[in-house]
Amino acid sequence: MSDLASTLTDDQLQILKDAALDFALSHGLVVRPPPAAKDEHNTTALAGGVINAPISLIPTPFPANAFRDAVRIQPLYNQLVHDISQDDALSTVDDFVKRLYDLYLLVQKEGIAQPASLGVHRSDYIIHLNQGQAFTDAKIKQVELNTISVSFGSLSSLTGDLHRYLLATTGYFTDNMDMSALPPSDSIESIASGLASAHKLYGSKTAKVMMVTQPGERNAFDQRWIEYNLLQKSGVVLIRKTLAEVADQGRLDPKTRALYIGEQEISVVYYRSAYATTDYPTEKEWDGRLLAERSLAIKCPTIAYQLVGTKKVQQVLAAPGQLERFVKDPSVAAQLRDSFTGLYPLDGSPEGIAAYEAALANSDELVMKPQREGGGNNIYGKDIQATLKSLTAEQRNAYILMDIIRPPITKNILLRKGELQRADVVSELGVYGIYLHDGHKVIRNDRGGHLLRTKGVESNEGGVAAGFAVIDSLLLV
Ligand code: ADP
Ligand code: MG
Ligand code: MG
Repeated sequence: MSDLASTLTDDQLQILKDAALDFALSHGLVVRPPPAAKDEHNTTALAGGVINAPISLIPTPFPANAFRDAVRIQPLYNQLVHDISQDDALSTVDDFVKRLYDLYLLVQKEGIAQPASLGVHRSDYIIHLNQGQAFTDAKIKQVELNTISVSFGSLSSLTGDLHRYLLATTGYFTDNMDMSALPPSDSIESIASGLASAHKLYGSKTAKVMMVTQPGERNAFDQRWIEYNLLQKSGVVLIRKTLAEVADQGRLDPKTRALYIGEQEISVVYYRSAYATTDYPTEKEWDGRLLAERSLAIKCPTIAYQLVGTKKVQQVLAAPGQLERFVKDPSVAAQLRDSFTGLYPLDGSPEGIAAYEAALANSDELVMKPQREGGGNNIYGKDIQATLKSLTAEQRNAYILMDIIRPPITKNILLRKGELQRADVVSELGVYGIYLHDGHKVIRNDRGGHLLRTKGVESNEGGVAAGFAVIDSLLLV
């Protein structure tokens, strides 16, 4: 495989960098800078300063077959999430997940007002190469399946646009000017159209979509593009509220349980928050969540979808026969299983005890994961053994173990805060899925574009927002 990044001269790098920065700033491929040390309310940043989103300067070579596999199976994952969400066996292995589960049970018991559910998912993969295998034969292995607050749909589309622009205007980084090797991602449109479909299903022309956001969100532009696209293509207005604002300003119509924020009826509640413990600093945020869940508004996602996205569910599904409980067609089950890597419980079962003992003996090829989202929570290498020893058997239940996936290393140039950095990198592919069910039948089950995140090899975690990775695009090989 040719090494695109190493062939670039310093002059070419400078030209690409200047062009990339102007493109990023003029196309909203931006984030708010981290708050200055003494600016706890982030006023400087909110007043208008932005910086380029962390991006790669050029696309990263990626095996075309692996990309096609990931895109092909996305509707299967969308359907699987829905089918598991209809099962009673959702797990409650730690306090946060239990709180969500209790909320789910409470709303079920009251009788759900809204039978429909909208999913905007993203299944993430790292590619794996067997010894001696060619790069182009690499296979996708699923890292996790995200069902709530999936981000970077917009910035990913824009980064692909940037790379195609740079290729068209400079021709520097590949001789292959065939733009089909740089597949565009339509995730802005897909996510917006998913919201539009749910809004239409709700059936009120005057209602608005509500995005539930985190206070002081630095990644707001990724979210804004969805709002703008929804308005432009479908004429639907999206408002932004935090969980605390939902609690303060929201109410339910006593008869219909329609959700109102002030005088405004809400058709769809789209969560870009509500997935982390830090999203619920007080009981007020839980009140906001409960109000939304009780309401007639269509939720993206439902609590059940959110719970299906936990690492515990992923691990349970990988156990023999479990996936097959939900997927009756053996060829479909085989396609999904092909994307799994080794996943192990840390509970009191014989498998859990065996995994615990094996990890104490050697944890070099393992990742230990709590039931958390948003990056930066996993445990690696020798820390696994130290952590295992510090936990009681019951506390261990809240974690799973997973085989580490070691992808081939490539090279790229990272562009962060206006600065270039050459790096040996690894990438993680994400494929978006859009799924709408009305309670009786599937209304939509679609692919929704893709994301490539790239990080330096020395970093274990891959979160862009967490500061480890950059947004990239694919050069199919
Ligand atoms: P989160 O929900 O916090 O994003 P992930 O399961 O995606 O949790 O883990 C975060 C990051 O850790 C991933 O983006 C990836 O970089 C790394 N990671 C997770 N699981 C594995 C694995 N099995 N092999 C290699 N890296 C992994
Ligand atoms: Mg996640
Ligand atoms: Mg992740």
